[in-house]
Amino acid sequence: MVKVIAIDGPSGAGKSSVSRIVGERLGFLHVDSGALYRIMTWQCLVRGVDTDDPSAVAAESGKIDIECRPEGGAIAYYVGGEAPGNRIRTPEINAHASKVATVKEVRDKVTALLRGMTAHGDLVIEGRDITTAVFPDSPARFYLTASAEARARRRQKEEVEKGIANQSAESVKASLLARDAIDSTRKYAPLRKADGALEIDSSDMTLEQVVETVIAALPEGWRAAQKAK
Ligand code: C5P
Repeated sequence: MVKVIAIDGPSGAGKSSVSRIVGERLGFLHVDSGALYRIMTWQCLVRGVDTDDPSAVAAESGKIDIECRPEGGAIAYYVGGEAPGNRIRTPEINAHASKVATVKEVRDKVTALLRGMTAHGDLVIEGRDITTAVFPDSPARFYLTASAEARARRRQKEEVEKGIANQSAESVKASLLARDAIDSTRKYAPLRKADGALEIDSSDMTLEQVVETVIAALPEGWRAAQKAK
């Protein structure tokens, strides 16, 4: 049986760093589900689709082909043979992604892609609905959160370090909160803590402490492949 570690939580809670490291230590492939919603958003914008029009987004979503393949410990994505890179990490994509992610056809498509990835092996998947809708039966489900201030600080630092943007902490925080509000109130698969998921508030924890908390809570036998730090 393929093992799936599911990690949900709001923007900037540290899901990517935690999932990447847990994946490396256990030999599980890291899956960034948010990147799939970002790719759908990017392609809608490139193709001139109005993201405020759910039926236009739904119609276009059927025409977007995303190739998913294991590469360097993660599932990598390609559109028309090209890796999207930082084109899906811009403030413009941030502003449209949550709207696109409310559309049922988009969610169904991404959910099918994510479930199909189990063909590649054990996975650690981060997102907003992995514990509630995509893999609700996984015995390893986590809800990672942090204060809005801590999340905005981390995200702003990351944007500057990666050369993506140089926004003030205040505008990063406003953008995160706007996305969280849409994500947690939408009709289909809203962001919420799943019953039975372990909640971890990372506001005052180091990355290493969060990683260790996740690994320690895994079912018996899942840590077998753990590599030395
Ligand atoms: O995780 P990230 O911030 O890259 O996700 C971008 C957007 O994709 C989120 O704001 C959310 O609207 C959407 N998303 C989602 N379900 C997921 C992952 C991301 O709706 N499983």
